[in-house]
Amino acid sequence: ADTGTAMTGALRYRNVAVSEVFTPLVNTFMLGADERLGFDTVAKIFRTGYSRIPVYEVSKSNIIGLLFVKDLIFLDPEDEIPVKNFVQIFGRGLHVVWPDDKLGDVMKLLKKGRSHMALVRDVNDGEGKMDPFYEIKGIITLEDIVEVILGDEIVDE
Ligand code: ADP
Repeated sequence: ADTGTAMTGALRYRNVAVSEVFTPLVNTFMLGADERLGFDTVAKIFRTGYSRIPVYEVSKSNIIGLLFVKDLIFLDPEDEIPVKNFVQIFGRGLHVVWPDDKLGDVMKLLKKGRSHMALVRDVNDGEGKMDPFYEIKGIITLEDIVEVILGDEIVDE
């Protein structure tokens, strides 16, 4: 194939918007901070296969941090420890991006941090009935970006 075309394809991801590839909140597996890590919950977590679980308090749009599933190796489910005791990256340490942000910029951001996951936030204008407020719309990970990059390369072959 023409080298120029392959290059354009590999670089195209940079201008793709977060909104095109992120995982919406309804599809995001999360845990409440006060839930207890007993047998059922731990089994449910392992069954999802995810390595990072956003943790919320009060409402699913209020994410306070991340639980790293590998931290559960030393957990005794009989102790029924609350999820909040395992929250590693707290609110202010979480990356937050906008749906219009471009994957090139998000990639740079994610490479700097240690979670490789960002929350996607947008303004909810309350349909004019209330004051606008921020709302978490979902998550995006390095994997979502890599999929766009690889997808382009396959198309180019
Ligand atoms: P993992 O390492 O947990 O498999 P990846 O970063 O490889 O996660 O992401 C794989 C896909 O799963 C991506 O589309 C990402 O948005 C999604 N994802 C990651 N964590 C979660 C989660 N807790 N709930 C739902 N989807 C998730």
